[in-house]
Amino acid sequence: MKIAVPMERDPVEGRVAATAETVKKLKALGFDVTVETGAGTKSRIPDADYEAVGATIAADAASAAAGADVILRVRRPTAEEAAAYPAGALVIGMLDPYGAKEAMQDLASKGLTTFSMEFMPRITRAQVMDVLSSQANLAGYQAVIDAAATFDRAFPMMMTAAGTIPAARVFVMGAGVAGLQAIATARRLGAVVTATDVRPAAKDQVESLGAKFVAVEDEEFKQAETAAGYAKPMSAEYQAKQAALVAEHIKKQDVVITTALIPGRPAPKLVSAAMVASMKPGSVLIDLAIERGGNVEGAVAGEIAEVNGVKIVGHLNVAGRIAASASSLYARNLYAFLETLVDRQEKKLAVNYEDELVKATLVTKDGQIVHPALAN
Ligand code: NAD
Repeated sequence: MKIAVPMERDPVEGRVAATAETVKKLKALGFDVTVETGAGTKSRIPDADYEAVGATIAADAASAAAGADVILRVRRPTAEEAAAYPAGALVIGMLDPYGAKEAMQDLASKGLTTFSMEFMPRITRAQVMDVLSSQANLAGYQAVIDAAATFDRAFPMMMTAAGTIPAARVFVMGAGVAGLQAIATARRLGAVVTATDVRPAAKDQVESLGAKFVAVEDEEFKQAETAAGYAKPMSAEYQAKQAALVAEHIKKQDVVITTALIPGRPAPKLVSAAMVASMKPGSVLIDLAIERGGNVEGAVAGEIAEVNGVKIVGHLNVAGRIAASASSLYARNLYAFLETLVDRQEKKLAVNYEDELVKATLVTKDGQIVHPALAN
């Protein structure tokens, strides 16, 4: 049983799918592990650390993948990378399969069995495998750190002999995993924090973190959560009412952090150019939804845009900006899933295709795209 851990090729990707800690555990499960040289460098894991726990270091991606039964990835492999993967291998990663049908079909056609960790059901048993939570949590934290570093004033109220500086006003839009961590982090830095979401359950969570909840709480809002706990797309009428409320609120904010997403859809546009224009020069917006099209009008992927002195930060892969921590959690998420695919006694792969975790995450098998969400 062999596992391959290639280096991620995307220039904004500093994470790696296995750490020395998880390699050690994978060895104990009965796997041989081959890591491509340099795979851990951006996460501060030198080859020597992998070797010290028994991994083999391969000189390139193709020799790392040769003979592998399982390939652990952060991102979806390109067609070129996948060409070196043995037919029949399992590929596990954040494959971002929505809108990537052709790329997924290509992986299927190569005979790869792929699992997309983003589809892991949010049930108790799978919490330890929840990559969306582990990465969003760090992204929410890092968004506030980026905001504080970009903002040219202090976050906490400071009472000094020379007088008082007011606390920064931070508004968090979208109070899921990333948003709640952003609220907590901004509070720790001493900001006055408000937050909004369309899910009624978010209200208590926001308030329990000491932030004020700001939203139009009408009948539609009360029904705005799916059975899975996700946001539903809101009607144009609701969006207009909410936008009016937000427009008034945003004028008085120093920092806005947007995290609003709806699974499988483009991010809702929540902050218009007019709202940005209403903010004071020096204010900062951090758009964590940029990879799904962004919540903020004028946000540019991978750049810091500036409009009348207001900065709109569109960093890509924000969790990857703290790659060492992100890899550490992500690698544990992958290990926990892989553990369920192995017969520990026999020390061999034993994938139960009837298991709900496997069913939920399996994207391609036997040459086909099999995931129901990608069927059409
Ligand atoms: P997400 O990343 O899909 O979206 C982020 C937030 O944006 C969500 O809170 C969503 O409601 C909000 N949003 C969407 N449209 C919006 C709009 N127009 N205006 C304002 N906000 C908007 O969400 P997530 O962080 O993955 O969390 C989604 C849900 O899953 C939450 O209820 C969370 O508590 C739950 N969850 C459960 C588990 C578990 O193990 N049971 C684990 C993680 C998350």
